[in-house]
Amino acid sequence: MHELSLAGGILRVVEDAAERERFTRVSLLRLEAGALSGVDVHALRFALESMVHDTCLQGARIEIDEPPGQAWCMKCALSVPIVSRTDACPHCGGYQLQPTGGTELRVTELLVHDDPVAPAT
Ligand SMILES: [Zn+2]
Repeated sequence: MHELSLAGGILRVVEDAAERERFTRVSLLRLEAGALSGVDVHALRFALESMVHDTCLQGARIEIDEPPGQAWCMKCALSVPIVSRTDACPHCGGYQLQPTGGTELRVTELLVHDDPVAPAT
């Protein structure tokens, strides 16, 4: 279950940002998990939701976009859509494909609030 460690990594990124930018609450966390990133979106969401208790992400809406996969076919010299890394080129049926899109997992949007909870120092 590497989604668990991914979720932990995302949480750490957000908490570091909260400390740096001095916000206390996040109302929206938007992620991008590409079709070729190898991330199980449902497992990732579940892992995140199980971790946010008592963090700035508690109560945040979590949205996960899944951009489609894209690859460069060396034979066709074309950018083609693929669903998985094991797909063949839809034009020539070849496997000389280089993934170019949909491979990333990243935070794309964070809607934050600095509620006056902690005393300002
Ligand atoms: Zn091709």
